[in-house]
Amino acid sequence: MAKRDYYEVLGVPRNASEAELKKAYRRLAMRYHPDRNPGDAEAEERFKEVKEAYETLSDPRKRALYDQFGHAGLEGSVGMGGGARGASSFADIFSDVFGDIFSGGARRSASMFRGADLRYTLELSLEEAVRGTEVRIEVPTLEICDDCTGTGVRSGRQRDVCPTCQGHGEVRIQQGFFAIQQTCPRCHGAGTIVTDPCQSCQGRGRKEARKTLSVKVPAGVDTGDRIRLTGEGEPGENGGPPGDLYVHIVVRPHPIFTREGPDLRCEIPISFVLAALGGTIEVPTLDGRATIQIPAGTQTGKVFRLRGKGVTPVRGGPPGDLLCRVRLETPVNLTKEQRELLEKFAATLEAGGEKHNPQSSSWLDGVKKFFEDLKF
Ligand SMILES: [Zn+2]
Ligand SMILES: [Zn+2]
Repeated sequence: MAKRDYYEVLGVPRNASEAELKKAYRRLAMRYHPDRNPGDAEAEERFKEVKEAYETLSDPRKRALYDQFGHAGLEGSVGMGGGARGASSFADIFSDVFGDIFSGGARRSASMFRGADLRYTLELSLEEAVRGTEVRIEVPTLEICDDCTGTGVRSGRQRDVCPTCQGHGEVRIQQGFFAIQQTCPRCHGAGTIVTDPCQSCQGRGRKEARKTLSVKVPAGVDTGDRIRLTGEGEPGENGGPPGDLYVHIVVRPHPIFTREGPDLRCEIPISFVLAALGGTIEVPTLDGRATIQIPAGTQTGKVFRLRGKGVTPVRGGPPGDLLCRVRLETPVNLTKEQRELLEKFAATLEAGGEKHNPQSSSWLDGVKKFFEDLKF
């Protein structure tokens, strides 16, 4: 079936303004809306057609494409008639133009809101994050006002009839030939308003308060993880559900370990004598001590891996490793005797040639060649 021209569908000229498009769309959508034409397949088709035409022409980018290339210009870029956009984009655009006229029960729920989500930043030590913990946190919240029991009306008084809608909760707005019922903007559909507000909450019915919550932090969490406490956000309004509280984890820097995913890293200074002769050293782990065998002739920067001494990730999986990197510490503040010993030692190293320090020997050879090549 060939697609009809969008302007034709809406019955507007090609140079129609945005307001004219919107007006035409309202008029036709009202006429063909499924709620008004139950079981009428043709009306439903027309309704979809009208909606698609408006959806395209109300978007300046799509309208330009359509004006230039017709329906072909929109293929692949619009995806009308099913596909990913489908119903949700329709719902968006529809409520955008019509507000809550068609959404069933809008009058009752007009002033019902879900409470806001709250965010709380929780700082933990590395140990707490790795082992898990339970902490008590204090968060701001809104509580029902005791003085007015949440009504927002001064004690002993009552809500007054809304003068805008005379208590109906909705008002009629003339739109061309149509009169549209709309939720009363003054009372948001309640039909009554507060004229004598509760002093204690300024008529809001709620007051700021603080509450203490217990948060179970599972073992293995890391910076960037968040824990959701369902329903612990701000309370909803007029029977709406409460929001959620999101606890964002931040792990403080540790003096010894740094964490990389499931692995822990640490740096261990060792003397050059230990590195040369070999031996064992004791290293800290998160659950005690461990020993590392340092082989004779260990170079600085060598990393020793202690398997399974890292962190068990919160989302499961095997524990990571502890990676200990050794760094040779050059001795300082030498005594005269130590100096002499080292000088004697240096002489014996030199006598042994490249046998004792293969790296610097080969490096020196490289430098020598470099200068030869430059023909100094
Ligand atoms: Zn109050
Ligand atoms: Zn009203």
